[in-house]
Amino acid sequence: MYDAVVFDNDGVLTERTDRDVLRRAVRATFESFDVAPAEDLLDDFVAGVSPSRVEETCARLGLDADAFWRERDAQFAEHQCRATDRGQKPAYDDVAALDELDVPLGVVSNNQNATIDHVFEVHDLHRHFGTWYGREPTMESVRRKKPEPYYLERALADLDAETALYVGDKATDVQAAHAAGVDSMLVRREHNRTVAPEQMPTFDVDSLHAIPPLLEK
Ligand SMILES: [Mg+2]
Repeated sequence: MYDAVVFDNDGVLTERTDRDVLRRAVRATFESFDVAPAEDLLDDFVAGVSPSRVEETCARLGLDADAFWRERDAQFAEHQCRATDRGQKPAYDDVAALDELDVPLGVVSNNQNATIDHVFEVHDLHRHFGTWYGREPTMESVRRKKPEPYYLERALADLDAETALYVGDKATDVQAAHAAGVDSMLVRREHNRTVAPEQMPTFDVDSLHAIPPLLEK
């Protein structure tokens, strides 16, 4: 039994955004600073980019890192919201399991606030959650993203939860849960069948339907 269940979004509640959409968002970001980015630079900034990588790249190109990142997140939100509107970011069928959970629920995502908000609007997901966090479009938020437990700890405080389950699809989700001192669940989808986190998740499952029975114990 847990006081709360907190979810990652991408790859857990809704499908991940197409890599091509994210690459277009990175390209648009560089182009708005009059930089024609090399292909490998596009890949570097698609996801999982570290704050030091952003700072290094901006220093090399003579760009202000804060302004660059604000534009990067704005482009990401715009491109992902449009992809969602085109039906390219569907919710997984097993989000139906959320209806069966009668403890407070939350969301902690490394995606932008603006993206999460729009995705939840489109898929009618807001109604499930007592609290949710994406990232603000700042470099500070990049330093605080998972595997850092910063936003997860805030969500747990909002939900007044001492015990909780954090449900994700990546090793960094398991790490964040571990760092926040709560249990973790890795949900296996097509994209993460072979992921082998260094820290073992408390539960390794292939559907969100595995959650309701855990809360009955
Ligand atoms: Mg994810």
